Amino acid sequence: MAIRYKQLCIRCKKNYVSVTSKQRYAVCYECQMKNIDAKVKDPKMKKLLDIPEEYYRKNNFLANIKLNYLRFGKLSEKQIEVFKKVVQQMKKGS
Ligand SMILES: [Zn+2]
Repeated sequence: MAIRYKQLCIRCKKNYVSVTSKQRYAVCYECQMKNIDAKVKDPKMKKLLDIPEEYYRKNNFLANIKLNYLRFGKLSEKQIEVFKKVVQQMKKGS
């Protein structure tokens, strides 16, 4: 089993991140997401992904979609559709 320990985020030097000994550096969730925001150039996608930070934190699906967009540079119609649906549900508080 890998040893896990807490390390201060190298970007903001504010939050602690749980890392394994294999990881060279730690970047906290917030900084990761900020980094992604900076890389979203398409205004349509920017608008789509511009939802409250806590939604991403609470919902793994939304966070994964965002990460997917960054990785592949696009999302399928289906992904966008489901993304919107989930955001709507979260706005209603379910
Ligand atoms: Zn950070």
